[in-house]
Amino acid sequence: MKKILLLLLTISIISCASKKAIDINEDNIKNEFAAEIKADDLKEHLYIFASDILEGRKTGEKGQKMAANYITAYYKNLGLKAPKGHDNYLQEIPKAFFNGESNADSENVIAYIRGSEKPDEFVVISAHYDHLGMDGEEVYNGADDDGSGTSAVLEIAQAFQKAKKAGYGPKRSILFLNLTGEEEGLYGSKYYTSHPIFPLANTVANLNIDMVGRVDKKHKNKPDYIYLIGADKLSIDLHKLSEETNKKYTHLKLDYKYNDESDPNRFYYRSDHYNFAKNNIPVIFYFNGVHEDYHKITDTADKINYELLAKRTQLVFYTAWEIANRQNRLVVDK
Ligand SMILES: [Zn+2]
Repeated sequence: MKKILLLLLTISIISCASKKAIDINEDNIKNEFAAEIKADDLKEHLYIFASDILEGRKTGEKGQKMAANYITAYYKNLGLKAPKGHDNYLQEIPKAFFNGESNADSENVIAYIRGSEKPDEFVVISAHYDHLGMDGEEVYNGADDDGSGTSAVLEIAQAFQKAKKAGYGPKRSILFLNLTGEEEGLYGSKYYTSHPIFPLANTVANLNIDMVGRVDKKHKNKPDYIYLIGADKLSIDLHKLSEETNKKYTHLKLDYKYNDESDPNRFYYRSDHYNFAKNNIPVIFYFNGVHEDYHKITDTADKINYELLAKRTQLVFYTAWEIANRQNRLVVDK
């Protein structure tokens, strides 16, 4: 497969103009870049986010800022764009915004790839990178919550950036949004959606990843699953696209148990995508369900299933690719 990529690269270097004339199967291209999302790379990121050195990444504290530094350095190294006026990729949120839930200012991290045909339409891929901090000497490592989603966003960013460099950049812009303050009450997404850097009216979808590295009790014997929440709430169009994408590329069991309005957990209202949904932006929340280590000091990196994390991350990548490259913007039809 590497050889195919090299060949494609060579062809595009030799002649950009004739690219369209060469019969290249678009699925092969997608698969080639989805394969850039690797279990080992996810593991490397995740072990850093979940290490004791980051002290549980509590909003406003040293560990959260170290995590932000890691993410910004990664985006910079990839060559992603920083939003105008936010050259360091940071959206600063003043301490006062956190209603006493943070001891200091905190920050969202934001990078993007400019769309080639519809640069003013945006697909937002998000995950929160904050967690619960420490309890005395004990660290809440937050490996699944949400080291898994944070690592996923970084891998998706590098896959899209590689595609762009090979001449297959997205038609719409793609925004990579690492949010702070989630554990304190979805503050990072609340701030972003009340102080949007790119207009919400042109934000076509939010794919939010929060806990995707573990397997819950229900799926113990058949772990190739993911819970999807919210996909059909504002846009049947999105729900269909998401289903078709999975059927074609990733073949995970999509479990809609928590999408049911009567489910008492009400997860739809409990992570950052909800602040986008409130603004009439179609969302999908990707989630592995709860487990015995949820919000405990035992949510550690050694318990993550990295192959499964890679597969779920690829599902988000393919879905974002479809949304960003399809002819028509997703329809808000509900
Ligand atoms: Zn979370």
